[in-house]
Amino acid sequence: MLALRYHYSVPRYLLGRLGSWLRPRHFFRRLAPLRLEEVPFRPPSPRWVILKSRLCGICGSDLNLLKGAESYLLEPYASFPCILGHEVVAEVAEAPPGSGFRPGERVAVNPLLPCRARGLPPCEACREGQENLCENFTQGDLAPGPLLGFHRQAGGGMAEYLAAPPESLVRLPEELSDEAAVLGDSLASALQPVLDHFPADSDTVVIYGAGIIGQQVLRALRTLGSSARLVMVARHPFQAELARAGGADIVLLSPSRRELGEALGARYLPTTLGGGNLEGGAHRFFDCVGSRASLQEGVVALRARGTYVLVGTAGRVGPVDLSSLWFRELRLCGSAMYGQGILRAQPRRTYELAVELLARPSYPRSGLLTHTFPLRDYVPAFEAAFDKRRHHSVKVALDPRR
Ligand SMILES: [Zn+2]
Ligand SMILES: [Zn+2]
Repeated sequence: MLALRYHYSVPRYLLGRLGSWLRPRHFFRRLAPLRLEEVPFRPPSPRWVILKSRLCGICGSDLNLLKGAESYLLEPYASFPCILGHEVVAEVAEAPPGSGFRPGERVAVNPLLPCRARGLPPCEACREGQENLCENFTQGDLAPGPLLGFHRQAGGGMAEYLAAPPESLVRLPEELSDEAAVLGDSLASALQPVLDHFPADSDTVVIYGAGIIGQQVLRALRTLGSSARLVMVARHPFQAELARAGGADIVLLSPSRRELGEALGARYLPTTLGGGNLEGGAHRFFDCVGSRASLQEGVVALRARGTYVLVGTAGRVGPVDLSSLWFRELRLCGSAMYGQGILRAQPRRTYELAVELLARPSYPRSGLLTHTFPLRDYVPAFEAAFDKRRHHSVKVALDPRR
């Protein structure tokens, strides 16, 4: 079958890192260790359901891999070469008896590969439904890797076929199109931190970054009924427009610290060096960028005992002044993929909740999937995903059937 495979090599990884430092929005097609090639299809277990991929999103984590921006600490959590793609909408091609699925059914694929996918008894995290925090992503019957799409055996959605454990599949209702369902991964990644750090209605919240994750954090908050004051920070005007459509109260375009403070109703305290301080800012700060600048603005923009949540996938960031962390007793939290959350006192599997919300006609998903390309055109697809400013891209997807 035809598949887009990533072949890890240290020199190319470092070249990717250098390239993206020189030209951050450029996709170095000749440098990237990506090959569209014929590969044998071998499901890792006879228990898994065989799927025909219909649509697969390009994730920020795919871009980070190509940019050489992944943390060195995460190297043990992947196995190569891997077929890329973990944001998958598919149809069942072959279902083993007892799987509960029939050929032809459309499904979204929860890409996690925790204990249950590895033939292991559940670890402590898995027992509590937090499969995203599984302690056995490097153990058991499968090669290391927490997700389909970063895994040498499990395959990925940027291919004609893939396979997945039956319990990872979420059946799609008829009214939910492939184009909507492919937003499931990004919405679930946003829902998890939103459920874990749901603001009070009287709170002021910053959503820093207006790419797909920021847009989904905003929509998740509104769809779940939050009337907190939501201040969105965007980089490009088309992102700002989408943020207004998604229900942001205030949208700022690359604001100065003083402008950010004004929007939050904080007091601006000038400093001789360092850009000034803020007093009495936001209650919550969802960092959907994960850079030195976003972490710095986060700790400065929060009021005492405010919560910073790293939703993006930052690795190393440059030097950040953390004095507000102790001076204002802030809480710094992270958020990784999705597992289970509590909604109205009920535990819910986050990925399933995301599919359910996307199926609501009222969910404001228009403008989020901006591009789809045939799998063969992966080069322009990655170019569009890399250069958001030029292509006005939010989510870019590949269609392996075309
Ligand atoms: Zn993703
Ligand atoms: Zn586990």
